[in-house]
Amino acid sequence: MLSIGGVMNRAIFVELDGIIRFNVLNKISMIKSIGEIGIYTDRVNTLRELKELGFKILGIAYQPNLDQDFSAEVALATNEKTAFLFDEIVWCNHSFNETCFCKKPDPSLIESLISKYELDLNESVFIGMGNKDLVYALNARIKNFFFRDNFFVRNEL
Ligand SMILES: [Zn+2]
Repeated sequence: MLSIGGVMNRAIFVELDGIIRFNVLNKISMIKSIGEIGIYTDRVNTLRELKELGFKILGIAYQPNLDQDFSAEVALATNEKTAFLFDEIVWCNHSFNETCFCKKPDPSLIESLISKYELDLNESVFIGMGNKDLVYALNARIKNFFFRDNFFVRNEL
C-alpha cells in the first residue's frame, strides 16, 4: 500500500520465537527444522484482526543456528503456517560473537522496515519479551510495547 497525501502506515512488529512460534519438541529451543515450527494460533488470529484494520504485520527472528538460505525457508514456512499473516519476516542469523548490524539491540533491521513501509512510529507497536526487547524497540524509537505474557495489555512506559 502506498501512502497518499502524506498519510503514513502503521505496523505491529512481532518477535517470532516465543510469541508467534514455538518448537514443537519442547516449546523452548530455537527452530532448527521446518517440522519443529509450532504456531500460537490464538495470537495469530488477534494479529489478523489488526492486519484487517490496516496494520502491517512484520516478524523479527534471531536464528543463529540457520544459514541464510535455510533461514529464508523457515521464514516462508512460518508465514505459510500462519496463513500469510506477515507482510514480511526479517532475521539475523549471525552467531552471538559475530559483529553485525541486524542483531538486537541494534535497531538497523527495524529501521529498514520503518523506511520501506513509511511507518508512523507513534501508531506502531512492538510485541516482544521483556527488557531486552524493550531496549531494542526503544532504540528504534518505538514507544508502544507489549509483553509476551500480557499480550493484550499495553505496557505503561
Ligand atoms: Zn546479524
